[in-house]
Amino acid sequence: MPGSGAAVFVDFDGTITLRDATDAILDAFADPAWLRIEDAWLSGRIGSRECLAAQMALVTATRDQVDRLLDEIGVDPGFGMLLDACAAWEAPVHIVSDGFDYCIERILGRPDLNLIARLTDSHIVSSSLRPDGGRWRAAFAHPPKPCAHGCATCKPAAMERLNAVGAVTVFVGDGMSDRYAATCANVVFAKDKLAAYCENASIPYRPYDTLAVVAQGLERLLEASQRLPPSLSRKVCPAV
Ligand SMILES: [Mg+2]
Ligand SMILES: [Zn+2]
Repeated sequence: MPGSGAAVFVDFDGTITLRDATDAILDAFADPAWLRIEDAWLSGRIGSRECLAAQMALVTATRDQVDRLLDEIGVDPGFGMLLDACAAWEAPVHIVSDGFDYCIERILGRPDLNLIARLTDSHIVSSSLRPDGGRWRAAFAHPPKPCAHGCATCKPAAMERLNAVGAVTVFVGDGMSDRYAATCANVVFAKDKLAAYCENASIPYRPYDTLAVVAQGLERLLEASQRLPPSLSRKVCPAV
């Protein structure tokens, strides 16, 4: 059923993957001071860009060590179903992540999954990470200058940029780095910390535990209306 008029944006770490790849790297290879920086972010004293730049500077690991760790991180088996649902409705699907391109490409490019081949029409908007000897260099290009939230990757800005046609926006996420996206999206699927945030902030959301549930929910949403109802008309996010 083509032409849904919806655009789907999906967080990566903890949403497509079953474990946050950045946290896994920090846990395994960073000086424990990374946890103090995490607290500063969680309490709102610094943004995620400043947080991740400082944390990744504490990592010492070879490329092989990081690759082996990333190869152990599972992917939600429902992600394929979500891609199927989006393809059936001709709804573009994009990945928006505070995390790193290196991890996303390694995990989605895994030969047994070969998911990267299914994302040729998708944009992957993320932070950047490159090995440099035994150290790792983080860079942030989305946007090049820090946004008002201090995001590593500004998800509302990316969603705005990738949705030039003004489609209804659907966001799927799990964590605190998704909170600004949840504020701006028309439809939010949330689990874990993002669900708790939406609850506290009175942001309407649809709870999920696996992406198979999101795929089914999205299909029901699109089937019920053919085109999404006028009440879901596009939001303009004042924070961007
Ligand atoms: Mg996440
Ligand atoms: Zn931002």
